[in-house]
Amino acid sequence: MTRLLLIGPPGAGKGTQAERLSAAFGIPAISTGDIFRFNVKNETELGKLAKSFMDRGEYVPDSVTNDLVRDRLSHDDAKQGFLLDGYPRTADQVAELDDILGAAGTSLDAVVLITADTDEVVRRLLDRAVKQGRADDTEDVIRHRLAVYEEQTEPLVADYSSRNLVVAIDGLGAIEEVTDRILAALAERNVSPRV
Ligand code: ADP
Repeated sequence: MTRLLLIGPPGAGKGTQAERLSAAFGIPAISTGDIFRFNVKNETELGKLAKSFMDRGEYVPDSVTNDLVRDRLSHDDAKQGFLLDGYPRTADQVAELDDILGAAGTSLDAVVLITADTDEVVRRLLDRAVKQGRADDTEDVIRHRLAVYEEQTEPLVADYSSRNLVVAIDGLGAIEEVTDRILAALAERNVSPRV
């Protein structure tokens, strides 16, 4: 029963590490970005709404995102633990998650903060834009997403730090190396996959 959050700037490698941690811990990785992209692709009502924000590098409104996550966490597979990738990103979302977990009588085990310097993340995102063609991966939108992250999401780290939950990991290096760093730092806090 492990409950983890993954926080970090766009391009820090959250999605990649989320998959690997999900496999290691046997818990679902829940990415709000992936859920929104799936809905955009399938042209659902949610997708149409989310697209207008995502294309500009803005956050989808809290009310929408909070309802989505509340619903997703009520599914059976999330009862045994989860890793949230890209949620919460605003103070309002932190409050919502506290409420959801409090009502369920559960709590977080750790908040993994993946750090990476700005030049590196811009370089990675531009590279991804060429390979995957994500609509929000143009340079202007990338810079805007980074600014929104700094303004709205970085302050959450102080909040979770004051609760002694934050494990900060350098996101530079080989994918496996970063995963090993995360697993080692979590193990130090007695957060380990069950064997
Ligand atoms: P990145 O971290 O690289 O910006 P994501 O795939 O995590 O990429 O998210 C893509 C977009 O989806 C965000 O720019 C935002 O518009 C939307 N989004 C994802 N998660 C949230 C969230 N928790 N709150 C609001 N919007 C979100």
